[in-house]
Amino acid sequence: MWDILPGINFASRELLHFDLHPAHCLYLAQKYDLSNWIEGAIRRLIASPLERYTNESTDTLPFPLYQIIATAKESITLDRMRLANHPPFPPNFDGQPYCSHHETCKRVWTEKWFYTMGRRIHNPASPLPLLKVPDALEALDHPGMNQECKSSILTWMRQSCAGVQREEIVIRGVIATVHDMFM
Ligand SMILES: [Zn+2]
Repeated sequence: MWDILPGINFASRELLHFDLHPAHCLYLAQKYDLSNWIEGAIRRLIASPLERYTNESTDTLPFPLYQIIATAKESITLDRMRLANHPPFPPNFDGQPYCSHHETCKRVWTEKWFYTMGRRIHNPASPLPLLKVPDALEALDHPGMNQECKSSILTWMRQSCAGVQREEIVIRGVIATVHDMFM
């Protein structure tokens, strides 16, 4: 076993250069104990619409695994809807004592959220990962909004906004589950 491990490790590194279907990567990960293949394959499967799964993927994905991934995708879809459809504000946002035009801040933030961020989260071709939403918002211009108010929302989103974290938590849960199934 120890003699062939370097060969398997070499082969697994080399195979990564080929465009293998993620379902096939999972099949190989289970067959050859390639634990470092699991995360990338799961992330690609979750990011890919079910309608783009091929015959090859349905041949190599056992139904329990397919079910875990499909359930995670459904859960993520709901999380994306919840976040995109409700502009996020920290619980104490209405009580910012330093801001003299807070109503404008809220209006600018809300409009920008619906006109730009919601569309990027719901983009059917390349949906923005929810963890990247705070960085994307920071890069956007919010004309008329107090910079301190914008910073306070972004700090809260990065530290404590559950809606931003949920998608990644679901994905990591699937990776851990599959890891336990395979290894
Ligand atoms: Zn303000």
